[in-house]
Amino acid sequence: MIFERELAVVPLLCGRLILERSVFSGRSYDQVLELPVFAFLIVHPKSYILFDTGLPSELWLSQTSLKLTEGLTAVTGESMGLLGELKRRGYAPGKISILVNSHGHVDHTGGNRLLSQARIYRKTSESSNASGTAEFNESLRKTVFVKGDYDLFGDGSVRILATPGHSSDHQSLLVQGKNRQALFTGDACFRPANLESLTLPLIVENREQALSSLKRLKEIISLTENVIVFTSHDPIAEGKEIYL
Ligand SMILES: [Zn+2]
Repeated sequence: MIFERELAVVPLLCGRLILERSVFSGRSYDQVLELPVFAFLIVHPKSYILFDTGLPSELWLSQTSLKLTEGLTAVTGESMGLLGELKRRGYAPGKISILVNSHGHVDHTGGNRLLSQARIYRKTSESSNASGTAEFNESLRKTVFVKGDYDLFGDGSVRILATPGHSSDHQSLLVQGKNRQALFTGDACFRPANLESLTLPLIVENREQALSSLKRLKEIISLTENVIVFTSHDPIAEGKEIYL
């Protein structure tokens, strides 16, 4: 467990996705692809921040697999679920006061309701690029709808970045550490290497937006020294806490 004053990233494995490539490629043979699903706890001196919440909690409560759509199934794998993984690492879920969802897909928001005390930051799906504005929605308790980019603490240390394309409501997160920065791309990019090659994510709602979001993230990396990139489905994220 990390000391309160330190800044670190704790990747939390929140299940796995099994998908048949034929659903996307239209080819008749079934090639199965297995992807881990990650949420990330950011232990920040100002607040515990969670980036995404993984697959739905029903998986761990009542069933071990869940058909999400044709050709796409969620399984628990070796994961104990969001709450179980937090507990296993020694973190109390009740201490998480900020939750940033990269976007609304079920493998990124499935555990939202387990964190009723957290304020949720979501991007509005309209394509407004107005910077630094957020709209508090009373009817959806504790949900803040962010338009464009948003500086979470007002000091540049944690910034939400609008990165639509994979979905219209997609956003990424950039966290400034003492020695290095962490960039959380969500599904804007499936592998860190895909930023270099500008390879679009597996599922794309708007190709033009997805490409400009990739270019934006690539530029951030090229202009910033010492950035660690965390994507939501990259097996490489598995492992221990990373100090920033
Ligand atoms: Zn997605």
